[in-house]
Amino acid sequence: MRSHPVRRAGIETRWLALAVAALVLATPHGTAASDEFAAPRAAMVRLIEQLGWGSKKPVGHENIDPRVLAVMGKVPRHEFVPEDLRDAAYANRPLPIGYGQTISQPLIVAMMTDLLQLEPDHVVLEVGTGSGYHAAVVAGLARRVYTIEIVPALAEMSARRLRRMGYDNVEVRAGDGYYGWQSAAPFDRILVTAAAGHVPPPLIEQLRPGGRMVIPVGGAFLLQHLVLVEKDAAGSIRTRQLLPVSFVPLTRAK
Ligand code: SAH
Repeated sequence: MRSHPVRRAGIETRWLALAVAALVLATPHGTAASDEFAAPRAAMVRLIEQLGWGSKKPVGHENIDPRVLAVMGKVPRHEFVPEDLRDAAYANRPLPIGYGQTISQPLIVAMMTDLLQLEPDHVVLEVGTGSGYHAAVVAGLARRVYTIEIVPALAEMSARRLRRMGYDNVEVRAGDGYYGWQSAAPFDRILVTAAAGHVPPPLIEQLRPGGRMVIPVGGAFLLQHLVLVEKDAAGSIRTRQLLPVSFVPLTRAK
C-alpha cells in the first residue's frame, strides 16, 4: 500500500523526463543543444561577418545585418546537404544537391538576404527552392515564405525536410517560378536563386509597391550580375546591378 504512491511518483518522473526529451528533440528548426556542427557553423558566421560586402561596398554599407548573421547561426545547414557532404556544409562554397543543382554559397545567401531588408511581417516569394536552405533562413526573418522549385523531386524533398524541421511558415510548390505565385501575391519581397536572362515581368507585377526583389540576371554559365529591383510606392521600377555572381540557370517549363 505504502509503496504505491512512491512507485507512481517514479513513473510520473520518468514520463516527465520522456516528455522533456521529446520537447527538446522537437524543438523547431532543429538545433538541439548537443549540436556537433555548432563550432563550424559559428566559424562560418564569423567569416561572413568579417567578409561582409567588402571594401567596395556595392550597396553603400559594409556589414551584413546582424539579424541575418543570427539566423544563419541557427539554421542547421548540414541538414540541407547530401549526407556524404555534411562535413563540408559550413565551408563558404556552394555544394551539389543532386539533379545538377546546388545550394548557394553561404556568403551569397547572406548578401541576398541582407539586400532583402526583411521585416517580421513580410510575405516573401522565393523562386528556386533547391535544398530549402535559403527558404529556411528567410523564414526566420519574415512572416511567410512561398517557394517554387521546377524540379519536382527537389520540391518534394525540401517540402518534407522543412516540415520535419518545424518550418510551418514555408509553403513549397513544384512549378515554373517564372510566373510567380499569383494566388499568394502581392509579395513584400521576392528572392530568385537561379539566373534569368531578364527579370520576369510576372515577378515585377507580383511585387508590392515599396517592395524589393533580388535576382541574378545574365546568361546561363556566362557573366551574371546580382540585381536589386525596387518598386516605389507609385509602382515605378528601379534596377541596380550590384556584383558579378555565378548561379545555375533559371530553366523554363516545356
Ligand atoms: N535557394 C536554393 C538554391 C537553389 S539553386 C538553396 O538554398 O538551396 C537554384 C534552384 O532553382 C535549383 O534547384 C533549380 O532547379 C531551380 N530552378 C531553376 N529554374 C527554375 C524555375 N523556372 N522555377 C523554379 N525553380 C527553378
